[in-house]
Amino acid sequence: HAKAEGRDMYAFFSLSMTSRARAVLQVRHELRRAVERGQFVLHYQPQVDLRSGRIVGAEALVRWQHPERGLIYPGSFIGIAEDCGLIEPLGAWVMHEACRQNKAWQDAGLPPLIMAVNLSARQFQRNQVEQLTGEAIAASGLAPEWLELEITEGMVMQNVELAIEVMQRLVATGVRLSIDDFGTGYSSLSYLKRFPIDKLKIDQSFVRDLGQSGNNPAIVTAIIALAKSMELKVIADGVEDQSQMAYLRRQGCDEIQGYYLSKPVGAERFAPLLAADGHYGAQVAA
Ligand code: C2E
Ligand code: MG
Ligand code: MG
Repeated sequence: HAKAEGRDMYAFFSLSMTSRARAVLQVRHELRRAVERGQFVLHYQPQVDLRSGRIVGAEALVRWQHPERGLIYPGSFIGIAEDCGLIEPLGAWVMHEACRQNKAWQDAGLPPLIMAVNLSARQFQRNQVEQLTGEAIAASGLAPEWLELEITEGMVMQNVELAIEVMQRLVATGVRLSIDDFGTGYSSLSYLKRFPIDKLKIDQSFVRDLGQSGNNPAIVTAIIALAKSMELKVIADGVEDQSQMAYLRRQGCDEIQGYYLSKPVGAERFAPLLAADGHYGAQVAA
């Protein structure tokens, strides 16, 4: 989809200022209608334990099912949704749907997994996230320990003391927290110690460098060591090949997520992956 996005962006910037403004309004209008009509779907990407090869988690990733333009990826609309106040209803739908789906898989007898949901900065700052997760957990009947909220360093660092309070209240309800895109923002290490988090997600940009000769894997190695010393779990995002996986396993990384194992897929394609318990065992052991 990077290509399609690139094309969209090119078309967008070649417009005059007025037509550009009009295009933004048009997208906002369509997005608002999509939220009203529920034209979204969640895809799920497995998070696999490097020792057992088992799927231990899934990240829920939202897609817009546009009636004319087809599937649109979040990079093209989350920012717009944030700007025009649509991220709250959209984020609420994502939270409810992710919890509902996770509980449905558990009820179907599939191995339980932790469902990770991305929060936007606005959702986090608006301080409604505690209420939202409480509602989604109550409505779905999912036990809170099977829900993980992904936050970013930037969301936390804007007002650290407040963010720690919000995180502590969330954790008190039983949900887990992880830091997404870790290493790309700037969080002070002294604060990190005070965050009631469970997991660090190593950003794809650092993982991409692994396994290519001449590239320095120092950042990945350092993040894994940091996580270990703070007794946090660590997952690498964006793992695309066997050599990256092998390096991560040698360094003691707990889990991986990436195209090497699976792209994000719809619920109907995810369930069979989950049903084949230990599905990735051979691939991960290789
Ligand atoms: P993220 O949270 O860092 O999610 C990981 C992104 O990397 C996903 O893109 C995923 O499809 C992609 N990815 C995973 N493995 C690989 C790989 O091996 N290679 C490559 N090239 N890419 C990989 P996606 O689904 O397009 O989502 C982009 C971003 O949009 C997410 O980044 C997240 O920040 C945001 N997002 C997605 N869903 C939601 C949502 O429900 N709410 C909010 N607030 N943001 C969301
Ligand atoms: Mg994420
Ligand atoms: Mg990322």
